[in-house]
Amino acid sequence: MIAHTQTLFGAVALVAVIMGSCLILVGQLRHRDGMLTTGLGMLSHSLAYIGFTLFGQVSMWFSYVLANTLLSTALAFYTVSLPLIHGRRPPWRLAFAFPLLLGVLLSVLIDTQEPRQLVACLLLFTQCLVILHLSRLHAVPGGRAHRILMIGAGISLFGLGIRVVVILSGAPAEMHYDVSNLKQTVSVALGAATIIMFSFGLVLLSRERIESELRQTALRDTLTGLPNRLAILEQLTDELERARRQHTPLSIAMLDLDHFKQINDSHGHLVGDAVLRHCTDHLQQRLRRNDSIGRYGGEEFLLILPGTDADGALELVDQLRQSLTQHAAQVDDKNIALSFSAGVYGSTSPVAEDITGMLLKADAALYRAKDAGRNTQVLATAD
Ligand code: GH3
Ligand code: MG
Ligand code: MG
Repeated sequence: MIAHTQTLFGAVALVAVIMGSCLILVGQLRHRDGMLTTGLGMLSHSLAYIGFTLFGQVSMWFSYVLANTLLSTALAFYTVSLPLIHGRRPPWRLAFAFPLLLGVLLSVLIDTQEPRQLVACLLLFTQCLVILHLSRLHAVPGGRAHRILMIGAGISLFGLGIRVVVILSGAPAEMHYDVSNLKQTVSVALGAATIIMFSFGLVLLSRERIESELRQTALRDTLTGLPNRLAILEQLTDELERARRQHTPLSIAMLDLDHFKQINDSHGHLVGDAVLRHCTDHLQQRLRRNDSIGRYGGEEFLLILPGTDADGALELVDQLRQSLTQHAAQVDDKNIALSFSAGVYGSTSPVAEDITGMLLKADAALYRAKDAGRNTQVLATAD
């Protein structure tokens, strides 16, 4: 089906202007989430297409030079939106150097046909390649929005490729914006798909980024930066699943700082906070790569030791404990000694285990460590 090219440009421009205006309206409230620049990109895109609809009726300056420069400006806005969505500094100068260069080159080549068409296609092609690259670079881990952006860039590259092939095959007049043929219909339809995919992809990327940020905040303890109770229990669930599948041992240890209330009472809560941070930094630095630690409660921590049996866990916790007692916290020129007691539980047959049972056993062993005089670790019994 061959559509009337300029009507098609007009229809796409109308859709883009509505979507772009909505995004600008939303983006006004938050300048740093990339929505404002995405909306401006769509507005430039629609203005460019309006310029194309007027090809042959107004001067070439307006319908070709300005319209293509606006199209390039739209791509520059999409380019800067990607880092902006991630709260990073966008490459403003590099992105907007393209429309500037295109405007200058097209002004010089305005009276030619093939050269000006090829220059326009080449620069727009390069911009799409940059967007393709940045979309990969700014993917949210586990997200899918970057794929939409990459497909959008790929479609655009294909559409521009068609134009280049037609121009090089000696029929540049077929690509005039006031000519209607199948290649034009396909090319403009691909342009429309690009606009929709870029805008949809950028909005989705922004949402994915916010969701990932919220998830990080929800799972992290603000004082120590460690995984919080919810997060460390999620990790324990995953590790237990893995241990069951792979038939490997799994150990946990519940750590509780000794006489921490006294530290707060003697030095104040702020110093207590600093001591807590010292303790978690110290322990974290001494853990093996696969081990994890999370803040289970106030001054209680849960250690997960995958692939470690009870004896190995007991030995590791002993080393951590001794190391911490040898490294007092230094806060405001004060040396504050500290120690912990620990209940350790190791399982060699995780198939028979459940999280609650493991935690209860480690907790019972912790109580015994406290009863034994503190600054020690006790291995839980199986029952
Ligand atoms: P024990 O050896 O029996 O564990 O004695 P303890 O004093 O450590 O135990 P207790 O549970 O009685 O007190 C824990 C204290 O930890 C009480 C609470 O104020 C303090 N604490 C819990 N969370 C924080 C925190 O985020 N910052 C500070 N500064 N103190 C905290
Ligand atoms: Mg305590
Ligand atoms: Mg406690």
